[in-house]
Amino acid sequence: MREYTPLPFDQSEDQADLRSMVRSIVDQIATPQRLSDFDEREAFDAELYAGLAESGLVQLEADVDGTPASHESQTIVLEELGATATSIGVSFVVQYMAVTLLCQHGTPAQREQFLAPLFEGAHRAAFALTEPGGGTDVARAMKTRATCRPEGGWVLNGAKVWISGATDCGFFVVLARTAPIEKSAVGGITMFLVPADTPGITVNEMDTVAIHGLSTCEVGFADVVLDDDAVLGDVDRGFRQVIATLNGERLNAAAVALGIARGAHHASLDYVRSREAFGRAIGGFQILQHRLVDEAVKIEAARGLLQRAAREADGGAAAETLSAMAKLAASDAATTATENGMRAMGGSGLSREYPMQRYWRDARLYTFAPLTDEMMHNFIGEHHLALPRSY
Ligand SMILES: Cc1cc2nc3c(=O)[nH]c(=O)nc-3n(C[C@H](O)[C@H](O)[C@H](O)COP(=O)(O)OP(=O)(O)OC[C@H]3O[C@@H](n4cnc5c(N)ncnc54)[C@H](O)[C@@H]3O)c2cc1C
Repeated sequence: MREYTPLPFDQSEDQADLRSMVRSIVDQIATPQRLSDFDEREAFDAELYAGLAESGLVQLEADVDGTPASHESQTIVLEELGATATSIGVSFVVQYMAVTLLCQHGTPAQREQFLAPLFEGAHRAAFALTEPGGGTDVARAMKTRATCRPEGGWVLNGAKVWISGATDCGFFVVLARTAPIEKSAVGGITMFLVPADTPGITVNEMDTVAIHGLSTCEVGFADVVLDDDAVLGDVDRGFRQVIATLNGERLNAAAVALGIARGAHHASLDYVRSREAFGRAIGGFQILQHRLVDEAVKIEAARGLLQRAAREADGGAAAETLSAMAKLAASDAATTATENGMRAMGGSGLSREYPMQRYWRDARLYTFAPLTDEMMHNFIGEHHLALPRSY
């Protein structure tokens, strides 16, 4: 059989270097067997994370002076991690979100305290927005409250769910209601920077079927006392400030999903080239081949949209529609490539010996996070196609 050569990436020399740096760190530290072991044990690979952070991959072009990293660089790192150490990629999505929020809204003192150790990998952030009452209509569902103390500062009470990496983070970015819902549910919410060792915080790991290399947690806040300087950004404007960064998070979610699609696609290709039935490699059967071709098209299309969106966002454009499209395209590529991969592998798809079942499980995350694919459709319908709001 002829050799398969992936299409070349559309990237600058610096971007090619960044991509190969991520690949070589993952290759050096995390063999496929190790990736599988951490998934099986449901453990976070702190050594791999440290190796990536120490090489500057959390920081990228960002700086404690408030300079953010470029979207293109973030998406390159995340695609590579999505294709290999997916759970570490999910942790990086959270770290990039925290970096962006601190760069955009942090005071110099907050950036010094929280950003510098984040860049070095000395601590990690967890982002606590979602509540038991719902993640899509999260502002209306938000019951976590922070109230002003007469002597100064705030007291925080409430519960968050599905919080990635909360078991061993250094600090939380928590969104809490600081004023009652009036005209709009998105007003009256504030962001807080909360060190994880603040008294009154409880963290319980939730039992999930995917992203096993990163904890997913319930987090409780019971009379957690915070100083005034715990406020990140503006009081009562925190949700609006988070929404403004969600574009970047969509791009980053799309990048991990694209990585999952690519990882599953390559694992399928390897399998169909070596597995035989009826005296030939199963990759010779038309239906399997056509599915692989469809995957290749979806992957290239998703990357094209992602790069275009990231470039426009880096150039200062809102790029909201392109970002929503990239997120949908990448999530579709990931679910298609993993579903097809499972089919192509027959019974072996269910074997934990192969990574396909991990890609298949992990691919679910970015069909609904940080915002669901249904909400991406709603957004594109309303804002790009100018159709009436569908909800
Ligand atoms: C592994 C994992 C990690 C996570 N990490 C984090 C984290 O670190 N921090 C954090 O804050 N959150 C996190 N989340 C939460 C995630 O962001 C939410 O699950 C997501 O926002 C969806 O919210 P929900 O699960 O409450 O679904 P719901 O809001 O209950 O939605 C259920 C269904 O209803 C549909 N729906 C709702 N409204 C509409 C509408 N108007 N039109 C059409 N369909 C609609 C949705 O699309 C979805 O299909 C994580 C979740 C998981 C599982």
